[in-house]
Amino acid sequence: MELEKTLLRKVGEAIHRFKMIRDGDRVAVALSGGKDSLTLLEALLLLEKRAPIDFSVCAFTVEQGKFLRPIEPLGEYLKARGVAWTYYRDSPSFRLLEEEPDHGCDLCSRYRRRAVYEIARGLGANAIAFGHTADDFCESLLRNTMFTGKLSALPAVTHSRDKEFRLIRPLVFVTEEITRAYAESLGAPLVPCGCSQRTGTVRRGLRDIFAEMEKEYPHLKENMLSAMGNVDTSRLLDTRYLDFDGPVVPPRPASLFPIVSEL
Ligand code: SF4
Repeated sequence: MELEKTLLRKVGEAIHRFKMIRDGDRVAVALSGGKDSLTLLEALLLLEKRAPIDFSVCAFTVEQGKFLRPIEPLGEYLKARGVAWTYYRDSPSFRLLEEEPDHGCDLCSRYRRRAVYEIARGLGANAIAFGHTADDFCESLLRNTMFTGKLSALPAVTHSRDKEFRLIRPLVFVTEEITRAYAESLGAPLVPCGCSQRTGTVRRGLRDIFAEMEKEYPHLKENMLSAMGNVDTSRLLDTRYLDFDGPVVPPRPASLFPIVSEL
């Protein structure tokens, strides 16, 4: 089907361009229970069969006490699909929720990161795949620019601090319009997270701006993604990349027409 073709083309492009997956890799997909990571899992399972490189895929979910629906239907769906899935109830996160119910994202994601590495280690994975989409990359570019004083988005590929794991985001070119439609076509039981219902006002505001502008400029996000891969540092203000003396100009060749005195 057309949607699947588009999805695989975009995921394949990301994997190829950023060398995300290599021969012999064991990739653990972080399943959040939402449409994006589920779409990512399905795309990687399809590519596992079709790609010219040899890699394996498994999946896991970290429960931090924020799911709004029971996780069992997702487990049953994955089992029926023959997916190796690990469900991990992270006790420290539950304690955190009890002791500091209003903890912010920083603390929550630190707890999650520790759990994710522990699970991936147990699964024998060397790469961990996250379901951040093109929308996340574009929003984060604007958010960082406007609120952190840094021109940056998300890393498409990076590593854990000690390089134990390659951390990859193969949905970098896939918009949520695609993941929404694809997850719907799968009929998979999604498990919403309480936090996704109350995303911050900045994020909501950016999403509204995109939705409004995309009515007139449907390729807005594609253009932003292209821009992230085509940086003109000479037109930014980071002095580390500026050449104050201008480029070295090679000496002019001697003129073929000697200047004749006008006297
Ligand atoms: S949005 Fe919720 S689940 Fe996500 S990092 Fe923040 S507190 Fe944690």
